[in-house]
Amino acid sequence: MFPLGWDPRLRPEDITEQELTLLSFGMSAKSHADIMRARRRAFAQRPNGNGQPRNPGQPPSRTNTASPTAYSPSALAPPSIPAAPASPSLTHSMATNDQAMQRNANTNRIPLFFREEHSGFIVKGNFMTLAAKPHLIEEGEWMAHQIVEQNRLLSGMVKTVQSEDRSTGRPVCNETACPTMAAGTTTYTWIDVNRNPINLPAVTYIKHIQTWVTGKIQDQSLFPTDSFASAPPLPNAAQLASDPASYLGKTSGFPQRYEIEIKNMYKQMFRCYAHLYWQHWLFFWDTSSHRDLNTCFVHFVNVGRIYGLFNDKDTEPMQPLIDIWVKQGVLPKLEKAAEAGTPTTTAGSGGGAMPTA
Ligand SMILES: [Zn+2]
Repeated sequence: MFPLGWDPRLRPEDITEQELTLLSFGMSAKSHADIMRARRRAFAQRPNGNGQPRNPGQPPSRTNTASPTAYSPSALAPPSIPAAPASPSLTHSMATNDQAMQRNANTNRIPLFFREEHSGFIVKGNFMTLAAKPHLIEEGEWMAHQIVEQNRLLSGMVKTVQSEDRSTGRPVCNETACPTMAAGTTTYTWIDVNRNPINLPAVTYIKHIQTWVTGKIQDQSLFPTDSFASAPPLPNAAQLASDPASYLGKTSGFPQRYEIEIKNMYKQMFRCYAHLYWQHWLFFWDTSSHRDLNTCFVHFVNVGRIYGLFNDKDTEPMQPLIDIWVKQGVLPKLEKAAEAGTPTTTAGSGGGAMPTA
C-alpha cells in the first residue's frame, strides 16, 4: 500500500521532489521487492550493463570502496577520496560485492557511502516530522510505534539483499559473500546456548535478528495489545516527578524492562543497517536504490538519537555518515545527555541463543 503521491514505477531520481510528509515511508517489503526487481531489469538492459551510476559525473562506487580491513573509524573525518581511474573491470558485466571488495583490498580508501554527494534521499522534507512524538501520545506508546515501523522499513531493505543476484544466481547476501556479520572492521557475534560467542554468516545472523525482533514485538508481556481498552490519561510532569518508580511506558502498561528491551532491539537493527552499508552498498548503488537505503537509515538514526536508543559505541561503524547528516542539518545536533546507562543485554528473554551485546 502506497500513500498519496508515491508511485512505485518511479526511480529514485524521479521522486526526489516528493514531500516527505506525503511519503511517510509507505514502502511495504513486498512492494519494495517489486521495485528492486524492476530496477534490476532496467539496469540489466542498459547498453553497457556495467554498473555505471546514472550520473556520469560521479565515479562508480566499486572502484573506490574501501577495504573493510583498512577501515579505521578514528581516521575517517573528513572523508576525502581522490577520483579513481577507471578500472578495466568496469567494462565487465556486473560483479558481486565480494569480488569488488577483493579488488579493492588494501587500497585504504574510505567507502563511498561516507561521501556527502552520496548521502542523499528519495524524499525532501524534515525527518523530525516522522520522529517527533505527538503531544498527546505517551512516550512508551510512541516508542512501540517506532519500533514496529523501523522494523518494517529495515525488513524492506534486508529483502533487497536476500533477493537473487543476476550475476551469481544466489542471494546477494549469502554465506560465501558474507561468512560473518561484519560491518567494516567490526564483526558482530552471536551468543550460543552455552553463552559462547560464535560467528554466524551474516545472512543467518540477520534472519535470527528478524525472528528475534518479531518475536519481541509479538510478545504480549513486552508489547501488550490484547489487554488494551483505551489509552490511559497522559501523566503530567508533576505526576511523573512524584512517582520515583516511574519508567518509560509505565502508564501505558508496558513492563519495567521495556526500555532495556527496545534499546537492545534497536541496537541489533542498527547492526543490520551497518552490514548492508559496509558489505552491500555496491548492490544498492547498482540498483539505484542507495537513496532508499539512506532514507530508511537516516529516519532510523534520527529516532535512535532523539530517544537515546543507542549510544556512540553502537553507532561507531556508521558514524562518518551520521556526522555528514548532522553537518548538513538533516539530523539535529544533540546535547550529550542521553547516553549514560544504555543497557546492553536482555538476559533471559526469549531463551536460547541471542545476539551479543
Ligand atoms: Zn551480507
